[in-house]
Amino acid sequence: MKITRLHVPLTMLAGLAGACAAPPTPHDDDLAPRAELDRAELLGLARVDGWLVSPVLTSADPITRVGLLVNLDEADDGSPSEAPLPLVRAVAMDDGVPGEQVDAAVTWREGGALVLNADFTTATTAVVVRIREQDAAGLHGVAWELFVPSDEGTDEAVDATTPNTEQWLAGWLADSGIKTRASWGARASRGCSSNTSKSKIAIHHTVTGRTLNGSYPRRLRQIQAFHMDSRGWCDVGYHFLVTADGSRWEARPIGYLGAHVGGVNTGNVGISLVGCFHPSGCGGLGGTTPPEAILNGAARVVRTVARHYGIAIDSTHVKGHRQWASGTACPGDNVVSKLSTIRSRAKDASFPGPG
Ligand SMILES: [Zn+2]
Repeated sequence: MKITRLHVPLTMLAGLAGACAAPPTPHDDDLAPRAELDRAELLGLARVDGWLVSPVLTSADPITRVGLLVNLDEADDGSPSEAPLPLVRAVAMDDGVPGEQVDAAVTWREGGALVLNADFTTATTAVVVRIREQDAAGLHGVAWELFVPSDEGTDEAVDATTPNTEQWLAGWLADSGIKTRASWGARASRGCSSNTSKSKIAIHHTVTGRTLNGSYPRRLRQIQAFHMDSRGWCDVGYHFLVTADGSRWEARPIGYLGAHVGGVNTGNVGISLVGCFHPSGCGGLGGTTPPEAILNGAARVVRTVARHYGIAIDSTHVKGHRQWASGTACPGDNVVSKLSTIRSRAKDASFPGPG
């Protein structure tokens, strides 16, 4: 089967691209082989013996885990879905022949929003995902990534020496209007490494919908659950998240080493725009034009961080993810084209507009 018949965003499949693609790394969400399907695309999956079957998704490097974000239908009032938990099965493929089969297990659930993992006992480079057809009626969307989970979040020796995350949001961040982790119901960090000196900034997009059933905090909690429970990270990969309304949220406390640009995390502050902003790469994730409010919100975080650490706001120190590392389209063409706008607004404390 061909990937393209599903309109699977090519940018999300950067790991498939061959010679020019960087291999997946444990510290770079965007480089992992990834697929994202909304309901319309789900219904376009092949139907085989009672299963909806994905095309073969491949990774340049062997992987052991398929991490999945699954969203079920919910009532308008956000009450938990009555849809059954879908049976999702990952199948390792060996030269087109099915090998090990693993049913995905739920690691996090909040209403109809779930995070699941399927772990292989033997590493593989090709995977098919199957969803039991009888469960598909209540499925709103599903995304999956292939990777080797990090052990970042299980380093107890580091954990014992790091501060209590609930006490972290520094006064200079709170004063700038950045919302606390408590405001979005964040879980506590788990074993992050200290990295208090910052010298550069990377702009990302999350390659998710902008909200989860209309809620920004719920979307943030699902991203955190995926990063911690599936990727195995100590917290959200990024230090800050900016939502479409311009709100700025503390993610991984800034005194910690980030997990957002493979090989270039030291001293690098990660700021991610919640949404998907690559015209050819966002499937059913909504509009790809960043609203003014999100650009302004990003500019305000850049300004706050750059002033505090003495980082020059220029194209050498404040860049998009793909300008720091190859193999990803992040933060998407429609944010890359606005990076100079973000930088100029970050330098101008009086710029007008929402956010
Ligand atoms: Zn990125």
